[in-house]
Amino acid sequence: MLQLTCPFCGPRSEQEFVCTGEFSERPTQAEALADPAWAEHLYYRRNPDTPVRELWWHQHGCRSWLQVRRDPHSQAILDCQAVEVAP
Ligand SMILES: [Zn+2]
Repeated sequence: MLQLTCPFCGPRSEQEFVCTGEFSERPTQAEALADPAWAEHLYYRRNPDTPVRELWWHQHGCRSWLQVRRDPHSQAILDCQAVEVAP
């Protein structure tokens, strides 16, 4: 079982979190994107063979959004930091 260190709550079991997938920045001028480019941003994932950045939500804790860097081979959590979410 994975253990994540929430920057607000400290070490916690992965069962308190929800992983929502790869982290990607919102494109600048997103309103100007054509539908295929917007769909690619929303739904296509790279699934790389190297450490990935993912967006996790501390659902059963402080309810913060976190950017987590995880090694897909060893499942090791390499880094966990808070994400600012636009209102
Ligand atoms: Zn937390």
